[in-house]
Amino acid sequence: MSNKKMSIIVLGDAAVGKTSLLKMYDEKKFQPAHMATLGLDYVSKNYLPPQGGNNGKPVPVKIWDTAGQERFRTLTHSFYKQGHGIIVAFAVNDMTSFEHVGTWLASIKEHADPTVIKILVGNKVDLEGERKVSFQEAETLAKANGMKYYDTSAKTNLNVMEFMEDLFSQVYIEKLSDSPKARD
Ligand code: GDP
Ligand code: MG
Repeated sequence: MSNKKMSIIVLGDAAVGKTSLLKMYDEKKFQPAHMATLGLDYVSKNYLPPQGGNNGKPVPVKIWDTAGQERFRTLTHSFYKQGHGIIVAFAVNDMTSFEHVGTWLASIKEHADPTVIKILVGNKVDLEGERKVSFQEAETLAKANGMKYYDTSAKTNLNVMEFMEDLFSQVYIEKLSDSPKARD
């Protein structure tokens, strides 16, 4: 019997590129104009665990966007509860969005499953001259909170597949596989 499913949610301030990251991941497309009306709810994908895990069957994944609600910080408890994994995004050219990562982490601690797998992404690294948050700074914050960190660009498709696959693999190993890796 195998009816495993994976649910991932994307959090972070408005305009950091959450929807753009999902769009690039799903359709390999980037739209430079602001897409306030895009409002996609989720993206569906299949994750094929390595080495014939899950009897060689793909695990259906839903990645939930926060279509505008992030502006009002009114995400419901049930929204947090549905995630096996959470992507926290900020934009490297927007210091405020990085400072708010702590606020997002506090909401996760308050509302999400305590064993949820989190990953931090600093988006818009293509805007090189405008970078305000260094890789080092972001990675240090991530490590202090038990997360991996990726520099990303939804515009140039830098690390978009990589961070998603990394998160899926962590979620699969820690939460869905039949022999979960021992945690320290
Ligand atoms: P969201 O509110 O977090 O979902 O952000 P959006 O995906 O709507 O993106 C906000 C704006 O930033 C849009 O104008 C995007 O085109 C732009 N954007 C998103 N990702 C990137 C990126 O990696 N690089 C650049 N240069 N712009 C981006
Ligand atoms: Mg959006």
